Amino acid sequence: PSPPRRGADACHGPPRHDVRLKDYERDAARRLTEAGVDSPRLCAQLLAGHVLGMDRLHCVLAAERKLTPAELHDLEILTARRATGEPLAHILGAREFFGRSFLVTLHTLIPRPETELLVETALELLPARHPLLFADLGSGSGCIGVTLCLERPQWRGLLLELSAPALDVARENAVRLGAAARLKALRADMRAVPLRAAACDLVVSNPPYIAEAERGEVMDEVLRFEPHSALFSPQNGLAHLRAAVSQAARILRSGGLLLLEHGARQGPAVREFLSSASAFTGIAARRDLAGLDRCTLARKV
Ligand code: GLN
Repeated sequence: PSPPRRGADACHGPPRHDVRLKDYERDAARRLTEAGVDSPRLCAQLLAGHVLGMDRLHCVLAAERKLTPAELHDLEILTARRATGEPLAHILGAREFFGRSFLVTLHTLIPRPETELLVETALELLPARHPLLFADLGSGSGCIGVTLCLERPQWRGLLLELSAPALDVARENAVRLGAAARLKALRADMRAVPLRAAACDLVVSNPPYIAEAERGEVMDEVLRFEPHSALFSPQNGLAHLRAAVSQAARILRSGGLLLLEHGARQGPAVREFLSSASAFTGIAARRDLAGLDRCTLARKV
């Protein structure tokens, strides 16, 4: 018998017209692992779902499906982008937050799972059925404010954001997710909020809070792709948190709630601002699932 023919395909895996979804996922996961990407398998599955227009369950069910040359071409381009460090949220154009898909661009911080703690705390501490007005200071993509409105049909909110392109993304998220009627998006610096005194029942903020000196600790992928104005704050990372406290002291009504996200080592400083503002009571830390001190709450006296 003649030896099996060894064409070019033998060196490069199965012939390109015969690549199955599971082959792509396996090869992409290997490539992403070599590139040092987090959760390579999940990433490959999400890219496949994006290109094929299927959710993860359907991708699993379609593991044996052959990919068309066009699908394979698109997947190779997206996998290469991810392998160079471009965030998955930017490639997909969206990130899931509190079970909903939020549009994300280069101009917005990518919503983080930790921030869901802020939302959960607000939902837990405030009565569900009462109408209420909240302000989201530095809304970015709008993930916090839009989620609050969708979880609480009686609530209305203001999204304040200094970056015009980020505010556009927040507006678009509000429209697409069906919260626009109860949200107003304003271009404003969270350090000078254009609201009258005692106007709000709730103030939430996940402001920029990384110190310039901590730049070396920030993941390369974050530094390269996320807006620095959403990450870094002067005064050792505390300028925006300090401003949020003083703005909240003015715009919250008596008994209103302030919820702030901050760095894991900034809790004591934030609580110190709150006590020295003499406008707050019930100042407390909320630990996240990992036990980290990432969220502080206080009530306006
Ligand atoms: N509030 C937005 C978020 O939590 C944006 C935060 C920011 O830009 N620092 O994702």
